[in-house]
Amino acid sequence: MDHRPVRVRVAPSPTGKYHLGNARTALIDYLMARQSGGQFILRIEDTDTKRFVEGAEEKLIDAMHWLGLSWDEGPDVGGPHAPYTQSQRKEIYQKYAEQLVDQGDAYYCFCSPERLSALRQEQEKKKEPHHYDGLCRSIPIEEARRRIQNGEKAVVRFKSPKEGQITVHDHLRGDITLDNRNIDDFILVKSNGLAVYHLAAMVDDHLMGITHVVRGAEWLATFPLHAMIYRAFGWTEPVWLHLSLFLKPSGKGKMSKRDAAEMAKDGYSIYIEDLRELGYLPEAVVNWMILMGWSLDDHTEFFTLQDLIDNFSIDRCNPSPAAINFTKLDHFNGLHIRNTPVDKLAALIKPFFEKEGYQVDDTVLLALTPLVQERMVTLDDSVKFAGFFFEKEVIPEVAELPGKNMSPAETIQVLKDVIARLEPLPDIAHDTAEPILRTYIEESEYSAGQVFGIMRVAVTGQMVSPPLFESMVIIGRETVLSRLNKAVELLQNT
Ligand code: GLU
Repeated sequence: MDHRPVRVRVAPSPTGKYHLGNARTALIDYLMARQSGGQFILRIEDTDTKRFVEGAEEKLIDAMHWLGLSWDEGPDVGGPHAPYTQSQRKEIYQKYAEQLVDQGDAYYCFCSPERLSALRQEQEKKKEPHHYDGLCRSIPIEEARRRIQNGEKAVVRFKSPKEGQITVHDHLRGDITLDNRNIDDFILVKSNGLAVYHLAAMVDDHLMGITHVVRGAEWLATFPLHAMIYRAFGWTEPVWLHLSLFLKPSGKGKMSKRDAAEMAKDGYSIYIEDLRELGYLPEAVVNWMILMGWSLDDHTEFFTLQDLIDNFSIDRCNPSPAAINFTKLDHFNGLHIRNTPVDKLAALIKPFFEKEGYQVDDTVLLALTPLVQERMVTLDDSVKFAGFFFEKEVIPEVAELPGKNMSPAETIQVLKDVIARLEPLPDIAHDTAEPILRTYIEESEYSAGQVFGIMRVAVTGQMVSPPLFESMVIIGRETVLSRLNKAVELLQNT
């Protein structure tokens, strides 16, 4: 592909949560626009009034911003082709539908829903694919117009040729040839006057000067119809690119609603706003998404958005279906967490602590962040590892206190020995506390694992925690000692 500035668009429908597939398309559009010095356009495809969800548009805009994407034209930022919301462009589509009717490339169809449903049943019985039988194709245009004036309801259908073949070209997949008779007379405008995708998207793409239509593989089936519409108008076709289909993690089939529900139970999701809530970084989601269907080479896997602007090439996109791999997402999240500056990461994990009801002290937060940074897979893991830093008191499980193969009495003795050695210190610093305790361990009959294990449970209240000494430094001498004493008390009382 050459590097002339492209004009690309993404056209999400505000019908619910913002889906991974749409986000990946948006990301690719964004990259193509930014690397060619072109424009990326957001168009809201709300022609399907039945599926419209209030507030979904704001949410998808939020999710796109969260991913780090920005656009040059759109309903929220305006632009020379406004409005960018299809429900506000009804008259434009009607005008073009009429042009097609006038040219003989479309016709009015008066068939009732009852007739169409009987037709469908008949086709099912004959095991034929659903298609319109063309009954209204031959109604003379004047007669059709008269009937409409008299109040009859009609849809506009595309008059697809019934003979010959059509060849269309996908940039990633090459030429695709189809018998015209396999292309149905699709509805372009519904009886309520609203255009459907097939017409609205083509008209908008043309009027908005879109040079590359990047979209999901689910549009391949109707791709020839879309090319026919362009050709019927005599417009220059854009470069068409149908991206790879997403398969469920097993690689067997497309993801269903049920699969998505299963996934949610494991803490995964195919919706961007969920991934945000689940503690994924936008940088990781971007890195993960782009590698489902694209690669730079056979080894580079870490990419920031800027790396992608510098290196992405649509020509290296692979159109074969890609299985959604959440283990990879976890992997990338870890990498990007490690790559985040500590102060930024601290700010990112703060809301997760607050959501759990912790009162977050910013100095403590900043100090604990490097300790959890190495271990976190998702941001909410920080709470699991480090919530105790914000507890006034921790109450360990008494059963967890004794060191491995040690009795409660022996454990009490170890705790007392440790207290006796830490007490004289003015404060607990790594280089003062550790040598003292290591010497104690050498002199005692216990291992480091036993002694530090007991201390870990006493001080943090949990068996798994960030490194013990670093944690004690943050918690501070007084609290450490009081927690060790408390552990002694707990063991003595049972
Ligand atoms: N609303 C369509 C979708 O979300 C847009 C398809 C397109 O990009 O043309 O799949």
